[in-house]
Amino acid sequence: MVLQQTTDRRRIEDALAAGRLSVPDEHGFVHGIYAVCPRDGIRAYPHRTVRAHDVQGHAFAQVVVRCFGCGRSWAATADNIHLS
Ligand SMILES: [Zn+2]
Repeated sequence: MVLQQTTDRRRIEDALAAGRLSVPDEHGFVHGIYAVCPRDGIRAYPHRTVRAHDVQGHAFAQVVVRCFGCGRSWAATADNIHLS
């Protein structure tokens, strides 16, 4: 559903800007973020983060995820990050 995806993307962007790797929903559940490996389709979870040097100093400039299937790691963006 397109509307839900848009909402998730917004929540993911907000979380990354706040330096968080998870997003709480309205029911109090916390959803971790993950990306999908383009090579094998396995979920890749955050492995390393790079902080941006913004005013508050806590935004993520980069979230590097790592696939447990093939060991590949790459910098994920809000475009290909999903909520678990
Ligand atoms: Zn993989």
